[in-house]
Amino acid sequence: MAEGYSECSNNSQPSCVRSSGLDNVPPSYEGLGGIACPVLRLDPQDWMENNPVTAKIRSLYDCQLRLMHNMQPLPSGVDIANTVKYFSQTLLSVLKDVPRSPLEMIKDPVSDHERMGLYPNLDYKGLFNAISQLVDSAPHIQYGVQAFGQSVLQCLGCLLPFLEYDMIDNLPYLVAYCVAVFPVSLHQEILNLLCYYILPFTITRHYEGDEDDSQASQSVAAIVMMVFQHSNNPAHHCQLLECLMTMKPTIVKDLLCVIAYGTAGARLSAAKLMFYYWPAFDAQLFDRKGLLCKFSNDLVPFLCQRDMCPNAGSAEAAKVCYDHCISVTFASDTPPPLYLCIECANEIHREHPNQRFFDLLHPMQQVSMVCENKNCRSTDKLAYSICFSNECASYNGNHPIRYCQQCHANRHNSRRGGDHVVHTKLSHAWQMASDMQTNLVEAIISIFFLKRCPNAETLSRHESPDCGAKRGITHAQ
Ligand SMILES: [Zn+2]
Ligand SMILES: [Zn+2]
Ligand SMILES: [Zn+2]
Ligand SMILES: [Zn+2]
Ligand SMILES: [Zn+2]
Repeated sequence: MAEGYSECSNNSQPSCVRSSGLDNVPPSYEGLGGIACPVLRLDPQDWMENNPVTAKIRSLYDCQLRLMHNMQPLPSGVDIANTVKYFSQTLLSVLKDVPRSPLEMIKDPVSDHERMGLYPNLDYKGLFNAISQLVDSAPHIQYGVQAFGQSVLQCLGCLLPFLEYDMIDNLPYLVAYCVAVFPVSLHQEILNLLCYYILPFTITRHYEGDEDDSQASQSVAAIVMMVFQHSNNPAHHCQLLECLMTMKPTIVKDLLCVIAYGTAGARLSAAKLMFYYWPAFDAQLFDRKGLLCKFSNDLVPFLCQRDMCPNAGSAEAAKVCYDHCISVTFASDTPPPLYLCIECANEIHREHPNQRFFDLLHPMQQVSMVCENKNCRSTDKLAYSICFSNECASYNGNHPIRYCQQCHANRHNSRRGGDHVVHTKLSHAWQMASDMQTNLVEAIISIFFLKRCPNAETLSRHESPDCGAKRGITHAQ
């Protein structure tokens, strides 16, 4: 029996052993009949397999304790990074052999149970908790904090497909929180992890029978606040906001919430960006020219992630492949999905003709004040909406596209484009839902306060953002 087991854990279908469906029990277990599954779950081999993992998780807790209580010898960031990298490698090698698509399944909480059944029985929860506690000890690390931070970010990305719902809900805020405790040199990596690996698979999850948004979606205001407050690079603010605008139709509510309740720095940035991105909020109210700083010029392009990319380090990613097996094969240290330059996407596609490669939405280059539909025939071409769906963006070189009211109505109606994520001109305050009204009033007061009191930013830098608390979000401690 042990022989059969170890053979199975080395072959390419380990999931067959753990699967709860008896149909999937491999041939060597036929004789066990109905009791095959429970017996396998308690197999001593499982413990042997688990042991090094459990011991290593314990060693992470130990590192964290030493750092927090300044107990000698203090572990170095590099030592911790090596342990954390071991976990990332273990997770990716497990993932590679999973027969179904975890990234597809994770989008819908209904499949959570089935998804968790695909994996060997390791302590993913314990690992997640250990890593999230380690995040807090970053400021106490004296040497190797860069390596430490990189390994933690990589591991959080690798963990996502293995997490249960409560941890999935907490993950986006945890990653955003890294901006507050990791060195500035890691901010770009944090933003990339959030925008390309975490947010697309977490905040759009909707729990059946739940009227409200998921907790992950509700934490968006706190995420925006965290990044706007702790990164002083406007390009990061743009990157995060554009990413959120592609997936959350009600993101303007979160922005209003930040403007109303955020710290002074976060408020100012959120207000600027709302006027920057949303179509003609009120052209008379605000001088847009003053706002159009060099926002997007500093955007660092997100590059092809393939290990052997012939353009290594220079080609911007333009395609994405969600197949976890392809991803781990061609980018052995990176969590799925796989982001590729055109050349690599074409090459891999030739080898794997049945795989799909999706267009990646490019950042907005300029925010146009008028309709960008090349065939627009309207007399009033003033921008009315902005669409982030791939279909509409494909008419605009894969950049989000602005429409006048007439083109907007042609592209988004009951026959087509109903599922596009579109942001329209903000409606007048009295047409808004009441919570949005309150936020808008608070937001306007904030903006006037900031204008009149130039020192406000420094005065209230340390005032805590209470927006999250109001919506029942607790800050990661
Ligand atoms: Zn803070
Ligand atoms: Zn490439
Ligand atoms: Zn393959
Ligand atoms: Zn038009
Ligand atoms: Zn559209």
